[in-house]
Amino acid sequence: MAAALGGPPPQGAMRADVTAFAGPVGAYTILGPVLIAISSTDERHQGPAAVESLFHEAGHALIFPLTRELRTALEETGKPGHDDLWHALLFFTAGEVVKRQLGPDHVPYAKAQHLWERVPKWSSYLPLLDKHWIPVIDGKATPSDGLKALVAAL
Ligand SMILES: [Zn+2]
Repeated sequence: MAAALGGPPPQGAMRADVTAFAGPVGAYTILGPVLIAISSTDERHQGPAAVESLFHEAGHALIFPLTRELRTALEETGKPGHDDLWHALLFFTAGEVVKRQLGPDHVPYAKAQHLWERVPKWSSYLPLLDKHWIPVIDGKATPSDGLKALVAAL
């Protein structure tokens, strides 16, 4: 997960609190120091989905260098209006990484919760992530190269 997000693995443990309520989406992350909160009662974060949610939330602590690089690439190519592409990329990465560990029956959170259809622009991101980010997750392309290809394809 850290390699796909372009950074080193986290130094030390990340604290995760399991609480009855963890905000409107049932999970969140505070940075500096990292504190992940995930709801034990939210039906979106049960079973294998909870594993993916923990990886997604941990990814919030790992993705900042990549978001800076993405923002720069979008500015340099004159492609504004993709402010949450980084978050789509994080959902995609966590979903794919966890699916590879849990098996093909795992339905990634973004698909299960219909984020690709519900969030504006994300339906257009999904095929681009499939094409340009899977090689990064596979270790066949660097995150920087994946970002360049992704931004060029927008
Ligand atoms: Zn998130």
